[in-house]
Amino acid sequence: PYDLLVVGGGPAGAAAAIYAARKGIRTGIVAERFGGQVMDTVGIENFISVKATEGPKLVAGLEEHVRDYDVDIITEQKASKLRRDRLVEIDLASGATLKSRAVVIATGARWREMNVPGEKAYRGKGVAYCPHCDGPLFKGKSVAVIGGGNSGIEAAIDLAGIVKDVTVLEFGDTLRADDVLVRKAQSMPNIRIIKQAATTEVKGDGQRVTGLTYTDRATGESHELTLAGIFVQIGLVPNSEWLKGDLELTRFGEIEIGARGETSLPGVFAAGDVTTVPFKQIIIAMGAGATASLGAFDYLIRESVA
Ligand code: FAD
Repeated sequence: PYDLLVVGGGPAGAAAAIYAARKGIRTGIVAERFGGQVMDTVGIENFISVKATEGPKLVAGLEEHVRDYDVDIITEQKASKLRRDRLVEIDLASGATLKSRAVVIATGARWREMNVPGEKAYRGKGVAYCPHCDGPLFKGKSVAVIGGGNSGIEAAIDLAGIVKDVTVLEFGDTLRADDVLVRKAQSMPNIRIIKQAATTEVKGDGQRVTGLTYTDRATGESHELTLAGIFVQIGLVPNSEWLKGDLELTRFGEIEIGARGETSLPGVFAAGDVTTVPFKQIIIAMGAGATASLGAFDYLIRESVA
């Protein structure tokens, strides 16, 4: 068995594997796709000490760093079940089972998509999911935020300080965000909120987003907006479906963790976007991966080898 098995090969998983390997313990990493969400990212300008980079470039660096250590790297394998016996056992969709004394789960998350025509084609070309990451790219331009929940209204307030104007499109007839956020948004002159708006299509000129169309659900009428950017804020879905019933998850599916990345099961640690960590960013996921790995190492040196 491994001493530490990391499930997930994004920034959190890579950091956890490197920290474990540096302790000289038997380390493995299993991932469906090495690099995780970073593979889908075009420009990255908030990875501190690197002024600007691109997702695939950062992933190549992550992989090179992990490969520099004695780590078993298993890719294109999906974990489908976790069991805690004397060891932690991870079943893979392929039918194999990996065993380890401790594990770090870092399976990340995925943005919920609108699933309308044009969204995929213009992803990274005006369709964005992370205001902290991509907001500055739309300086002085008109953008829309899809979704009137907390993340949508927070995004609108955040963006309003950078862009020309923000139109929030909420599907329902009320905003689901906290009152204080709604009041703040309503007080900002360059935020407009449209309710009962169902986005129907992302429009572009072949190169970049030029706008969107939506249906007013009250009247059935179709409208068009001219925009440079569209921020989709309709939820982040943690990749934790495979853990339901075996680990404590919040109602949003996030793994509950403590300060050392520990979960509700002894020997099982977690890090990054799949957890309750309040902010989902590369640099935060890496720090969390290091934390969970050190937490697991602490656990291993205390665990009695009966
Ligand atoms: P992820 O990166 O999601 O990695 C999860 C890993 O787990 C992957 O290897 C995946 O294949 C694997 N996995 C999932 N399920 C299983 C399973 N069942 N079995 C095995 N493996 C599994 N953050 C920034 O800081 N700056 C930015 O500029 C930025 N831009 C972004 C742009 C986009 C389009 C997106 C989508 C995100 C962006 N983010 C950005 C957020 C950042 O990418 C994430 O916060 C970060 O990648 C989270 O790291 P993670 O390791 O927790 O998870």
